[in-house]
Amino acid sequence: MGDTTTATMPDAPSIQSPTSPTFPSTGYSKHIVLTTYPGQSGVDPVPLVWGAPDAKSRGPVIVTRGAGMLKRRNAMGAHGGSYSIYNALAIAAGDLDVNFRPDFRNSEPTFNFPWQPSWADKTKIVSMDPFGHDVVNQFREELEAGWDIRPTMAVTRANMKLAEIGEAVKNGQLDVDGTIVVDPSGEVRVTKVAVEPVWYLPGVAERFGVDEGTLRRTLFEHTGGSYPELITRPDLKVFLPPIGGLTVYIFGPPERVSDENVKLALRIHDECNGSDVFQSDICTCRPYLAFGIREAIREAQNGGSGVVIYFRKEGRALGEVVKYLVYNARKRGGDTADKYFTRTENIAGVRDMRFQALMPDILHWLGIKKIDRMLSMSNMKHDAIVQSGIKIIERVPIPEELIPSDSRVEIDAKINAGYFTTGRQYTMEELTAVKGRGWEKWEDVTH
Ligand SMILES: [Zn+2]
Repeated sequence: MGDTTTATMPDAPSIQSPTSPTFPSTGYSKHIVLTTYPGQSGVDPVPLVWGAPDAKSRGPVIVTRGAGMLKRRNAMGAHGGSYSIYNALAIAAGDLDVNFRPDFRNSEPTFNFPWQPSWADKTKIVSMDPFGHDVVNQFREELEAGWDIRPTMAVTRANMKLAEIGEAVKNGQLDVDGTIVVDPSGEVRVTKVAVEPVWYLPGVAERFGVDEGTLRRTLFEHTGGSYPELITRPDLKVFLPPIGGLTVYIFGPPERVSDENVKLALRIHDECNGSDVFQSDICTCRPYLAFGIREAIREAQNGGSGVVIYFRKEGRALGEVVKYLVYNARKRGGDTADKYFTRTENIAGVRDMRFQALMPDILHWLGIKKIDRMLSMSNMKHDAIVQSGIKIIERVPIPEELIPSDSRVEIDAKINAGYFTTGRQYTMEELTAVKGRGWEKWEDVTH
């Protein structure tokens, strides 16, 4: 046993469960198991063979520590990504029974995505469970036997309404076809797939060009030591990380997504809540997202397929606190495009943490082999997709007229740094003249 991972240190007081008679509902034993070890008595993980051809031979992903499964679990982390913490809170608060088992009746997918060879390829899919949508069907017996196995994907359908789509219908840029755009107000039918992250660590390490041990140690250290089995259980290869997932929005019949004979328009969008939802004008996120949705709908109406994939990677995966700090540094420091990336690097240490290396997994899961119209200017997204073996035929930049004036700083800096454009690429010197709005008028109002 390594001395950094032993449950009790020689001079430490013995560890007592915080469970007290005044708080009996948690149902935990007095003895806290901080970690497990391979070969420890009773440790016998349910086989999990990443890359196996079907769900049954692959095996279920089991992360629960409860109901006698601690020694049989075959994955680390917890379900729900970052929401796993709310799950813990609900149990702590006594709102949720620690032994709760979901009733999955009628929750099955609204569309059965056809099996793809990539589902059985452990190099093509490393950051999601390719059978995560079909758990209830595939592991019925195990569920009935009381095993806590949960879907990590869900497929549903919905109607959605976006102001820009309503405008596009009004302007005659989109037709009402009755099945995709269902009425003149711009109501749209969509199939949605939600995906929680499930990482196959050897595959993730390979994507980043690091060894698995380094990846495990780094994840362990920088989650405050929250997942000790990253260190003590090298035999467990799967980790459900506490991060956001993604959502696929499919316009038109979902079976067309993997059909090579029809055109596909696709946008990969990384979350920017301030713009996407609240329409802040400092960046091009919402306008590009709305344009992507419009073009996806248009392709579907033309007999092809349109897909928008929304990743929860707020503010280039740096989060909103860092993002706002950078906004302040930009606005106080004279917001010019030549300094755009430096401002982020000063505060975050890097300019971007989105790392598109894992992004193409969902495209492979969907069975996409080529993208006819890629509604993105990002060179990082482009390169990741092409390197993963998917062709991109045409790249479509955001139309000039959709770029808010205060977001020129961002878009021109990105174009200078390698983003695709059919327009001008400014030199670093020219970028000193691309300037964002200051706070002058704000000062007038607040003082
Ligand atoms: Zn944005």
